[in-house]
Amino acid sequence: MITQQTIQQISSRIDIIEIVGGFVKLKKRGMNYMGLCPFHNEKSPSFTVSPVKEIYKCFGCGRSGNAISFLMEHEKYSYVEALRWLAAKYNVTIEETNVSPEAIIQHQVADSLFIINSFAQKYFSDILFDADSGTDVGLSYLRQRGFRDEVIKKFQLGYCKEEKNDFAKAATANQFNQEFLVKSGLVVSRNDELLDNYRGRIIFPIHNNTGKIIGFGARIIKSNDKAPKYINTPENEVYSKSKILYGTWFARQAIDKSDECLLVEGYTDVIALHQSGIENVVASGGTSLTMDQLRLVRKYTNNLTIIYDGDSAGVKAALRGLDMALEEGLNVKLVLIPDKEDPDSYVNKLGAAAFRDFIAVNKKDFIIFQVEVALKDAGNDTSKKASVVNQIAETISKINKAEDFTKQQDYIRQCSELMKIEETGLNALVNKFIRDRVIKQESKQPPDEFVPPQIANSIPHSESADSEILSLLMKDEMQERAVVRALLEFGLKEWDGNKKVADYFFEELSDEEAFDNLELVRIIAIYKTWYEEGIEPTTKTFLYNEDQQLSKLVSSLVEFPYELSTKWKEAYEMPVATREDNYREEIVSCFNYLKLKKIKQLIDQNQRDLEKHHTSEEQLMLIQTHQHLKKIEKEILYKAGTVIIK
Ligand SMILES: [Zn+2]
Repeated sequence: MITQQTIQQISSRIDIIEIVGGFVKLKKRGMNYMGLCPFHNEKSPSFTVSPVKEIYKCFGCGRSGNAISFLMEHEKYSYVEALRWLAAKYNVTIEETNVSPEAIIQHQVADSLFIINSFAQKYFSDILFDADSGTDVGLSYLRQRGFRDEVIKKFQLGYCKEEKNDFAKAATANQFNQEFLVKSGLVVSRNDELLDNYRGRIIFPIHNNTGKIIGFGARIIKSNDKAPKYINTPENEVYSKSKILYGTWFARQAIDKSDECLLVEGYTDVIALHQSGIENVVASGGTSLTMDQLRLVRKYTNNLTIIYDGDSAGVKAALRGLDMALEEGLNVKLVLIPDKEDPDSYVNKLGAAAFRDFIAVNKKDFIIFQVEVALKDAGNDTSKKASVVNQIAETISKINKAEDFTKQQDYIRQCSELMKIEETGLNALVNKFIRDRVIKQESKQPPDEFVPPQIANSIPHSESADSEILSLLMKDEMQERAVVRALLEFGLKEWDGNKKVADYFFEELSDEEAFDNLELVRIIAIYKTWYEEGIEPTTKTFLYNEDQQLSKLVSSLVEFPYELSTKWKEAYEMPVATREDNYREEIVSCFNYLKLKKIKQLIDQNQRDLEKHHTSEEQLMLIQTHQHLKKIEKEILYKAGTVIIK
């Protein structure tokens, strides 16, 4: 857990214009900044950033948030990753609570490995471009394969010399710890001597989703039957093969924009496609896809297209276990590249536009593809065919999200046609698999957790004359929101000589039942805790909080500053009273309206009780209650200085 103090330190330095401006071209317009929305395609800017409120909002697609949520949405960072990114940018040292000694050590190892990897990348890139053996062997090999220098530089490729310890010497001279060097996989230790592990190989750095280098792939240049074609970084504190897809760092925005992720086998396929302008591509590195990798894809898109080169073992491996992709709700398509070609050679042959067309025309649904392949294998063998039907039914049953029901029905129809069986029969079989799984899961799960009953939020219907006003007052919990907004914005301002607005607020709000919206109650409770603990709760404290639901709610409460007020100032040449000037009045009136709303609810409830049959005693009591409530209502109305009701 990152401490609240650190979060405050970071958030106090955040300049939202600088952060968002790093990804979106922004232009100043009055008090705000505008740009083309990075989350949806548009020709004229509706993406607005307010430096004063430290929030952004797109008036086109409706996305909004603060600098942290921007990093989370745009860069697909987790909350903690976003904080770490900001901390590094603003040189804030991160303090953490409840960190075990093991975790601290692991963190230190990870940091050391990142530093070593970064050093190694620069070292190998320098060799590739500057040393004789680098240009003669490494660079000429890459150029001969058709890679241009700019793409080689973009992917930070490098070359490791054939000498036995050229890198190891450089690393030792730079005082890197021997144990960590071995851990990084860059060197191996033989008889107490450090030797380079990637001798005579092209170096492909592998980046994580914050752009740090977590490991390397090293490809042999000279053909050698004994040596493996690729060597990869061993599993360590930062490199975990099952969680990586090569190229995500360079592909992330293109995947987001095109809403499709292309998956190829090799590093060079990724780079070749990039060079031709197709950037939404990642590589599996030739292993079967893991749940972690599928989730990585799903951060960006639901559409995964696997580019399959007929005789490639790697992509066949990637196909295994793709049922998991269905469970994750991914739409998986396959494209078969013609014989003797791979994506790298094929895009070079066709050019980008034709390659794109080829993908679009030839991509085939994963399930249909499976059926076709399996049927071909089964031939006329009826028992094999029966097992194909079973297997496909199980696969289809894994599409279990409610919103994908039509998709499932579609598959049942198409597959029963392909397998020449009755649609109803396949349907029943699919349902059997679903049932079996549900039963299995239920037997594993503990009994349902207690779910607190939702507080009724419905607007009581009233026949009284002011029902329209009443429903207007109820609308969107307007009063509740206004009260909380006032607390957030003005809570730390002075109320009178020795009180702050927050103190007044909590005195007035002794009755928390006044709120229907439990989320707002939660904001108040957190505010109170922080306030009492001496942490200054401001809108920012909430905006930058880990709880994204809370942050979203608060950013929706905060008003976006409009141009209007500045225009008024110019037009009338006199200061216009802002909400900041009149905060005391605003708070009093917020409370009055909130109370008024509650009184109206009570009166309404009381009236409905009256309509039911009661003894005369009960009726009398209800009538007295009514009169009492009406009196309070009048008092509040008088205080509020408004005449809503005749
Ligand atoms: Zn937008």
